[in-house]
Amino acid sequence: MERTVVLIKPDAVKKGVIGKIITRFEEEGFTLIAAKFLRLPDDLLDDWYAHHKDKSFFPELKSFMTSTPVMAMIWEGKNVIERFRVLCGPTDSRKAPKGTIRGDYGRDVQANAIHASEDEHAANKEMDLMFLPHEIQEWKR
Ligand code: UDP
Ligand code: MG
Repeated sequence: MERTVVLIKPDAVKKGVIGKIITRFEEEGFTLIAAKFLRLPDDLLDDWYAHHKDKSFFPELKSFMTSTPVMAMIWEGKNVIERFRVLCGPTDSRKAPKGTIRGDYGRDVQANAIHASEDEHAANKEMDLMFLPHEIQEWKR
């Protein structure tokens, strides 16, 4: 079954909407198979956002992403990667429609409430960076 990696980012953690975001995924019928609340290490962020490391916003992005702990999760289900990207909405929260997670809880292009893996390649990379095999629970709803 397909898997995706989600981070509930510091802006959403500060807003106190971790539970509301998780509820959306549960109500869509997806299965939570791993979760932890942690402050992201600097070297993990370098690998996670390697595609942005030369961008001018990268230092600010790193300080935002380490400003509080984040909620890191793996969710499983049919077409979960594409479906979660739709539920999140576009990167810039100001352009995200109401009803999407970023449209409802995000502030701008940086503080956009949530990360969800872009494709299968990214999902595999992010699972390896974030979780050890024994932290992933196999179960069926
Ligand atoms: N980001 C940013 N400024 C930008 C573009 C992206 O701070 O101009 C941040 C934002 O938090 C975004 C993350 O970098 O979610 C990863 O960017 P990506 O383009 O991969 O967007 P996503 O896949 O998260 O929609
Ligand atoms: Mg991305």
